[in-house]
Amino acid sequence: MSLSYISTRGRAPELAFADVLLAGLATDGGLYVPQTWPTLADGHRRPPPGQTYAETAVEVMWPFVDGQIEREAFEALTADAYSTFDNPDVAPLVPLDEEQNVWLMELFGGPTLAFKDIALQLVGRLFDHELTRRGERVTIVGATSGDTGSAAIEACRDRDSLDIFVLHPRGRVSDVQRRQMTTVPSANVHNIAVDGSFDDCQDLVKAMFADEAFRGRHRLGAVNSINFARVMAQVVYYVVAARALGGVGAAGPVSFAVPTGNFGNVYAGYAAHRMGLDVSQFVVGSNVNDILARFFAGAHLEIREVVPTMSPSMDIQVSSNLERLLFELLGRDGAATAALLEGFRASGEAGLAPEAAAGLAPLWSGARVDEARTLAVIGDVHRRTGMMIDPHTAVGVGAAAAARRDPATPMVVLATAHPAKFPDAVEAACGVRPALPERLADLAERPERCAMLDNDLGAVQQYVAAHTRVDGDR
Ligand SMILES: *Cc1c(COP(=O)(O)O)cnc(C)c1O
Repeated sequence: MSLSYISTRGRAPELAFADVLLAGLATDGGLYVPQTWPTLADGHRRPPPGQTYAETAVEVMWPFVDGQIEREAFEALTADAYSTFDNPDVAPLVPLDEEQNVWLMELFGGPTLAFKDIALQLVGRLFDHELTRRGERVTIVGATSGDTGSAAIEACRDRDSLDIFVLHPRGRVSDVQRRQMTTVPSANVHNIAVDGSFDDCQDLVKAMFADEAFRGRHRLGAVNSINFARVMAQVVYYVVAARALGGVGAAGPVSFAVPTGNFGNVYAGYAAHRMGLDVSQFVVGSNVNDILARFFAGAHLEIREVVPTMSPSMDIQVSSNLERLLFELLGRDGAATAALLEGFRASGEAGLAPEAAAGLAPLWSGARVDEARTLAVIGDVHRRTGMMIDPHTAVGVGAAAAARRDPATPMVVLATAHPAKFPDAVEAACGVRPALPERLADLAERPERCAMLDNDLGAVQQYVAAHTRVDGDR
């Protein structure tokens, strides 16, 4: 029997994993979650000796996909996904402050140097596998302000059943970000530089999805951050961290500090906790766009203007995956979750009733780390350890220092980007410019491929139509 998935808003059909994977958002506007949380095997603190990251990943994720994909195929896809990482450990743990028992878990060893690769390298392969099985294909379209586009491109490149089109605002993404997208030589990858802002790019993508004839003809799809398959892949490294630090048999708890934007990463930690992982505290780190830090302090959501910061992947006001936690806090009541979120959409504000808010403590804390503090943390870590950390990771480190409750429990800060992805901020903070890893050292010399188009829906649609492969055409 396959696990069923239900919508957080309670009015969409229950689906099994393969349909959740391809659907993304539920038809009632909600997000899919498992109907029941699978439990980690008792021995979750004691991996068989020599178990690889990919083997642990299969073990942890199997209950989510059981009955929907053959075990051997899943093992092969998972092994292949994690073979793209620099370090055979995939998510190595390094000490940040041994005396204080603080650790960094480095999640940025994938193709694009940021943690999204951990989920997307697997999800691209799962998409392709399922579409191939069904004899279908999908055209992925998305907009990026610079950071997420490359992870989506690396996930989809060379997959037979996928074409991908990524729109970015021309001249408004960094050189490294643009080159990570435009130097990918795969025939199914298409970059479009739009004469306009990131919002214009997003509006173009929304308009393509809203055009039902176009959407149907080209079978538009998205690999967005609310896809449960992404959450599932991110559960794995929480288990790996707890196994490494809890010690064999010594089932002590672990705490995590997570630099947070869309709440996908830290929600995966919560899923691991619901599956039986012994977690003492989740510290949610925000930059000055601190709606989440304020929520965890006061159980109240209130939208403010988005301010650009040096940690752009966290410049967000509406964290879509928070809905999944709200659903749990509201006792899995879909109607109540829908009412809360619809009220929030309408007024920009929403509060939790005291009974629901009581579910936040003591597990959850939030901390806001402003720009000056972020730079200070990068500089301080460099002086003390010689390590360079990126601004997102620095928000996590700063948040852990501000909100950690129990110094006896190991604290794991998730390091979400390689410092060379944000070289200006890192250099400003520690006086040294971080170098790209060897495999990307010649990025500036690689040929680029990118269409330049006006901010015009007709022009973009025409381009997509002309470059989508038809069935049988490779
Ligand atoms: C996406 C991203 C985040 C935020 O992760 P969420 O899952 O959206 O909370 C943090 N750091 C980096 C580098 C990212 O790319």
